[in-house]
Amino acid sequence: MHWSSAIAKDIVERRKEKKHVVATGITPSGDIHVGNLREIIIADAVHSALLSMDVEARFIYVADTFDPLRRRYSFLPEEYEAHVGKPLSEIPDPDGCHSSYADHFLQPFLDSLADLGVKIEIFKADEMYKSGMYVDVIKKAISRREELSRIIEEVSGRKVTAEWTPFNPLCDACGRITSAIVKGYDMDKQEAYYECECGNKGVASFKDGGKLAWRVDWAARWKILGVTIEPFGKDHASPGGSYDTGKRISAEIYNYEAPYPIPFEHILLKRKKREGTKAKVTAMSSSLGTNIPVHEMLETIPPEILKHVISRVRPDKHIEFDPGLPLLHLIDEYEREIGEIGSGVTGKIPFRHFITLGQIARGDFSELLEVIKRSGYEVREENEEEIKEVSKKARYVENWLRKYAPPSLKFELQLALPAEEIKRLSDAQKEALMLMAQEIKEGMSLSAADWHDKIYEVASATNIDAKDVFKAIYIALLKQPSGPRAGWLLASLDTEFLKERFGAAAE
Ligand SMILES: [Zn+2]
Ligand SMILES: [Zn+2]
Repeated sequence: MHWSSAIAKDIVERRKEKKHVVATGITPSGDIHVGNLREIIIADAVHSALLSMDVEARFIYVADTFDPLRRRYSFLPEEYEAHVGKPLSEIPDPDGCHSSYADHFLQPFLDSLADLGVKIEIFKADEMYKSGMYVDVIKKAISRREELSRIIEEVSGRKVTAEWTPFNPLCDACGRITSAIVKGYDMDKQEAYYECECGNKGVASFKDGGKLAWRVDWAARWKILGVTIEPFGKDHASPGGSYDTGKRISAEIYNYEAPYPIPFEHILLKRKKREGTKAKVTAMSSSLGTNIPVHEMLETIPPEILKHVISRVRPDKHIEFDPGLPLLHLIDEYEREIGEIGSGVTGKIPFRHFITLGQIARGDFSELLEVIKRSGYEVREENEEEIKEVSKKARYVENWLRKYAPPSLKFELQLALPAEEIKRLSDAQKEALMLMAQEIKEGMSLSAADWHDKIYEVASATNIDAKDVFKAIYIALLKQPSGPRAGWLLASLDTEFLKERFGAAAE
């Protein structure tokens, strides 16, 4: 049973609700990266599992657009120092292409979710606050301030100051949501009176004039949106952490049962700095520059693979994500056991094979189609959909090669004979190449397996180790002693070209 079905079953057994709301949420303070995606993929899987059990369930995503900018991240220009403390929805887009800072990082992620086939209802926190959805929960939090601070102190072990209030006003002078202190309230008028660090004294409406402190906000949101299930990073799940606090606030202040928690481990990025060095494992972090934005990853691998990378691992196990060779192994596994990548002829050509074909074509699309045909696949060039699929897979392969492929998988087909390298071949190797040239007859078309056999025949006829014949072939074609599977390589090249190249190399 997939872990998502086991969790869905457990939810149905434990919870009294007949309808469920699965919630996720991410603060769009920077590029939303592959690590952040785990939460969404887990929620999506559990949501689908519930639906397949005929349980009514919604799947929502709350973007924390009303959260403040915590600090000026390294990717922000110096003048953004002035925006620290303001809500993300109220800060201009650093690149000027969206209506706000929050939207700039949120929109590419939402587009990626569409690519991933994840259907989700979007809520933006700033819009929720501005619409008045929070007014009642804010009033309740303010009127029960004492109990809230007691709960926070008891659960987290942290001292709550006498000045602490659950409501953080948005200062109408400096625009920050982090620096005003509440001095009083009028519950009927639904407003708070504050003094800000900037010297401003003002009035903040409960409707759009501020937000709840984070631990209170989370619990209040469960109540407002009727959340019954929520996955979250294991750091929130630690004893005394924000889930424990939220659970008590939810029960004692809002009279609402906290959602079924699905804590999950992080995704770690595993990468080699250089070839030959040991791969390093780091947490995915925007500020450390060790993240890969989801939209960028989706230029490199198809969405179904990215989903597979995450959903194949149970939430309580961490994932070491290595976008190099290990990712290619996962793609192999997916194509072998789950399904083809791409429709029509594209799906028939394994990703790994595409890597060879793409490099032989050297980025020329019409040549790529020729190479594919030569390798024995039938391409219907008049079929627009089929051509589109080929080009899509070719683009993934190209990007993966450029960004993540280890050098051992890269090669460059030599358009001219690499004369210097050929000189260093032994006489026996040259003889083998000559024999290869002689074996190639006009109009001949061999499969990869046939070519493979032929190399062994030639090796035994010339009485040398097959390994040395392979080496000679790679040097003659690629100017390097190793390369992709030789059968594939030879099958996808023009036989005339091969005859001429091997002949020239043998002279
Ligand atoms: Zn933008
Ligand atoms: Zn201020």
